[in-house]
Amino acid sequence: MNIFLMVLGHENPNCYEPSQIAQFVMLMLDSDLVFRDQNGQFVVLMHHIAERLQTYRQLTYSSPESAGVLIGERRGAHIIISDLSVPGDGDIRSRCRVDRRGAHHQTKVISSFHQSEGTAQYIGEWHTHPEDHPTPSAIDKLSWSKNLDTGSTMVLIIVGRQSIWLAKKEKQAIEQCLTES
Ligand SMILES: [Zn+2]
Repeated sequence: MNIFLMVLGHENPNCYEPSQIAQFVMLMLDSDLVFRDQNGQFVVLMHHIAERLQTYRQLTYSSPESAGVLIGERRGAHIIISDLSVPGDGDIRSRCRVDRRGAHHQTKVISSFHQSEGTAQYIGEWHTHPEDHPTPSAIDKLSWSKNLDTGSTMVLIIVGRQSIWLAKKEKQAIEQCLTES
């Protein structure tokens, strides 16, 4: 389990409402996050991507779900996530639902592909959940099964309030990958 943040106690944490304490979350990331599947193959979430994802955590009751696409490279059996798209115009967002409809997601995939001269490709999807340690919902699984059938291994990420759930999808099999620690 990868826990990438911590709630700071400060001198007197009892002074704060729970929603305020969430504002004292400190970023603990200082390097790339490395996940591994059962065969020892890596999915590397580059530091700046992990940092960007954690800014969308649903830390308050009014935070809507966020979603985007993951962009990266396949290096042999390993996958490096090096870019992403984020919520924008056209997306439908509420507390427990997000629909990634904005045209900018596709635009981002195309521009990254060209800027990297073809090495950076659409490699998966991410979204947030309003729970500390997220797990996929039945709707998530159904959606991935129907809409994410590319023939290649894809990466799935759910950003929770305290940890990231990451998995690889190969055909219809979804395998969670874990961090080293
Ligand atoms: Zn979900």
